[in-house]
Amino acid sequence: MIQTVRGTFDILPDEVPRWRLLEETARTVFRCYGYREIRTPIFERTALFARSVGEETDIVAKEMYTFTDRGGECLSLRPESTASVVRAYIQHRMWTWGSVVKLFYLGPHFRYERPQKGRFRQFHQIGAEAIGQNDDPAIDAELIEMVEEYLDRLGVAERELFINSVGCSRCRPAYVRHLKDALSGVLSRLCEDCQRRYETNPLRILDCKVEDDQPFIERAPALLDHLCEACAAHFEALRRHLEERGIAYQVARRLVRGLDYYTRTAFEITSARLGAQNAIAGGGRYDGLSELLGGPPAKGIGFALGVERLLLALPEDAAVTDDAPDLYIAYLGEAARQEAFRVARRLRRAGLVVIYDFQERKLRRLMAQADRMKARYALLIGEDELAAGRYTLRDMRTGEQEVLSEEALVRRLMTSRELSASGRR
Ligand SMILES: [Zn+2]
Ligand SMILES: [Zn+2]
Repeated sequence: MIQTVRGTFDILPDEVPRWRLLEETARTVFRCYGYREIRTPIFERTALFARSVGEETDIVAKEMYTFTDRGGECLSLRPESTASVVRAYIQHRMWTWGSVVKLFYLGPHFRYERPQKGRFRQFHQIGAEAIGQNDDPAIDAELIEMVEEYLDRLGVAERELFINSVGCSRCRPAYVRHLKDALSGVLSRLCEDCQRRYETNPLRILDCKVEDDQPFIERAPALLDHLCEACAAHFEALRRHLEERGIAYQVARRLVRGLDYYTRTAFEITSARLGAQNAIAGGGRYDGLSELLGGPPAKGIGFALGVERLLLALPEDAAVTDDAPDLYIAYLGEAARQEAFRVARRLRRAGLVVIYDFQERKLRRLMAQADRMKARYALLIGEDELAAGRYTLRDMRTGEQEVLSEEALVRRLMTSRELSASGRR
């Protein structure tokens, strides 16, 4: 028996409404902020991620699904989407579309990670990017407001927003030297990962979760105290914009983003519902990524959220299955069977969910089946009904039955459908 690959899973019909809720709410909310959906391929040239995400990062060095195709090209399944969206921005000359181009995406991504709760090898992300000539901190604040609005709409409770600045290419190198100097004396006492990061990506040391490392990290200098004037002004303005929008936040001096290309604004949203690994969404600014990928100078900011983790933070009753049949048709005899198919087609055209069994069975068993499927109504078509041109409609909740003409039947079912739809809203 061949089963799903480790770190992947089937999303079964009963779970799909919760997924759809996340996707449809994203489309609704992001649209209101002027973001438009983009769908990029799930695989790209490996060089795209090597250049943007960074050769040295765990993602590129250890976690990408990389393969050579039959034409000899080195390709990778996308481990994230910012690089793909910026690639598309350059490829389609989107700077001609306007000063800031707002895009969002949703879909599967791939990383060869150790599977654990809420973490998979094929995982899903919803994200957005605002790319263009403008790096006004109001764009950052608006993006954060949009994520907050989205999570509010979904009812994700017990949230906190953390912000920081990771500087720019002018101020960060000096800070990193400073950080390395400060840590050089205690390097041998840091964890193995941090010792490696010291050489490859010292900023990530601030991010280390190892208990024994914490006292050293707490004493290390903070990037916020070493920002250049422009970065400091950008961060101050971001704080002011968030306050004016009534968005509560905390400054997290040790918050850095995992990827090399981030500049200035970094943010993370957590939910206490998730326990220790509590981040739901993260994002930040990446001015200069376009140039890194061979494009024109451009500024950008974006975020991504992990759908599997967001699902864990969603209220239990957030979405209900809405594909229970409006009508189950039970027929008796060949002529009634043809009539059932015709009536079903008419009702389906009108948007109703109509089910019948292809195999003829005893009425009692058909009713049991309608019950199991949670059908709202059952329709009985037997020889008598066929002859009279009137059908018996049974209300599956009350058990009441009435005999209706086809026209009256259609009207009744449509009204019932509208009532239950408005009840759901
Ligand atoms: Zn700077
Ligand atoms: Zn460490």
